Amino acid sequence: MRYSAGVCNLCGTGCGHFLRFEGGRIAGVAPSVAHPVSRGRLCVRGWHIHELLATGARIEAPMVRERGALRAATCEEAIASVADRLAALPDPATQLAVVGSARSSNEDNFLLARLAREVFGTGQLAVTSQGTHDRTLHALRSAFGEAAPIGSLADVDGARYILLVGGELARLNPIAASNVWMAAQRGARVVALSSTRTQMTRLASRHLQQKPGTKRIAVNAFLKAILTARGARADFTERDLPGYPELERALAGLSPAAAESITGIPYAALEEEARTLLAAESFMVIFASGISGLDVETVNPVVDLAAVSGKMGAAGSGILPITGVCNLQGSFDVGLVSEEHGDLVGALAAPSSRVRALFVVDHDDGVIRHRERIAGLDLVVYVGSFVNPFMDLAHVVFPAATFVEADGTYTASDGRVQFSPARIPPPAGVLPAWRLFGAIAARAGRDWGYGGEREVFAGIAGSVPGYAGLTHEGLAAGFGCHTRRAPTVRCRRLLPIDGTAAAAVSPGGSFPFALMIGKAQHFWHQHNLMRKTLIPRREYDATLLQYPEGYVELSAADAERLQVRDNWPVRLTSASGSLQTAVRISDDVQDGSACVPYFINEMISGFLVADDRAFTAGEDAVIPVRIEKA
Ligand code: SF4
Repeated sequence: MRYSAGVCNLCGTGCGHFLRFEGGRIAGVAPSVAHPVSRGRLCVRGWHIHELLATGARIEAPMVRERGALRAATCEEAIASVADRLAALPDPATQLAVVGSARSSNEDNFLLARLAREVFGTGQLAVTSQGTHDRTLHALRSAFGEAAPIGSLADVDGARYILLVGGELARLNPIAASNVWMAAQRGARVVALSSTRTQMTRLASRHLQQKPGTKRIAVNAFLKAILTARGARADFTERDLPGYPELERALAGLSPAAAESITGIPYAALEEEARTLLAAESFMVIFASGISGLDVETVNPVVDLAAVSGKMGAAGSGILPITGVCNLQGSFDVGLVSEEHGDLVGALAAPSSRVRALFVVDHDDGVIRHRERIAGLDLVVYVGSFVNPFMDLAHVVFPAATFVEADGTYTASDGRVQFSPARIPPPAGVLPAWRLFGAIAARAGRDWGYGGEREVFAGIAGSVPGYAGLTHEGLAAGFGCHTRRAPTVRCRRLLPIDGTAAAAVSPGGSFPFALMIGKAQHFWHQHNLMRKTLIPRREYDATLLQYPEGYVELSAADAERLQVRDNWPVRLTSASGSLQTAVRISDDVQDGSACVPYFINEMISGFLVADDRAFTAGEDAVIPVRIEKA
């Protein structure tokens, strides 16, 4: 038996773990006590990562589709088929789309980006689970000069005032949530801004519970209260904080009374919190991505709020957008996706889309959006380690090494780049993805000549500013290194905000309920990967046993008004579709609102995808619906 140190790659927290090997096989996992973020803890997913890695559901050989069925092929045949067909696209810039994986290593993603851009000439790139992280990074770059978080998860320890924007942190990133809880135990004031009750709002010192769909206005109102409180102290000027007069003007039309009436949050509570925040030694803003994060109209005032606190750069302070997937931050850093990209998969379905070929890496979601459109493409290439529903659509399938079968680096949500070593060899004939991309490039006439992962990472360090000077050896010697290493953090310019006092979508008329899309406790089981674990899958199955068609959460008062009980069938109807599901009575949702968890296939493909707001407006998206007894 031996233990081998590495990094859990199931979410953006980046916990340290040890994999246990017995007889050359992965047999278990244990937490790293010394790791500065996880400190001896793993969440339920992390504790079962060995089950995933030991699954028999691997893709072990290349396959090509012939007469409607996939058949085994040699690596050379599959590479030639893909390289030659992509090179023959008349207009790859519009006809080829590439969807990488936010779970892949930086080395894999760096070369996938080069393959797409330099070899095949397309800039249509995305990563799965990209959500709205692009908007957050764009806001951070515009305000603070780098598309990177400020502060670190380890800094949460020293935070004296923590603002949680959105409430799903405990479900998405349990160890990061636990760090917030520990800070609260040490006396930090934790304030949660969320329309629903969650584990985080329950542990918070104060729950600022805004009405669904009004988060932007609630953040703006808090910002106004801070400006007012800070203005009285008059200890900063426009020179210190460029854009301050514009921000004041944008907020001038938001009256405390209007803000209170629209959001439901007493303005006096915001004034009290503003004074407490300004008096605190340090201030950390944390937001977890909901179904797809926050929209830009909410992200911008959150970043401004942090800037006007005057505490960014101080110990225990920062802005941490915590991601659900392990290497989403790194996917942006190495240029696989940029801040300008929108919803590429959604754009595929547009009548104007000219995409004819799709190259997908490690699609870990159990739901494939726009399946019919993808099925009609001329060429679909799938690269992955595990058997995946996407293979049904693929013309060519390549196996890839898992993260324990190749050296690689991963960048956690807080910008900590960590080295994960190869701990076992991949199955015979299976290549690390970066090597496969290099072979496709070579077939297309571009031989990069990389001999190993270290050389690829040297290429990253040579071209990505935050990675300059980093090496595999240096990262392996400790617990990684943060990409934002400048000693001072200065706000270059406050961001423009929408200070208007009107919710984007209001329920009423035929659609009186505000439907939100949230995360079930078992949300990760929608992920193809987690369905291959034993214990988490068992919990998911238990939920399905109780609610086989999923559920919609309603308050007890609304259930009584509708004359339905727990588990009774109801029909939800919006302007764009309808869905039958079961009632789950919960005190987590406010009267007049409802919440559907994102974990049942039919819910997503048949209802939520039909309403694009669920994916483009962020976690505060509200779909007006009617709910009737079915
Ligand atoms: S919190 Fe994330 S990184 Fe940590 S053990 Fe859980 S899944 Fe892994």
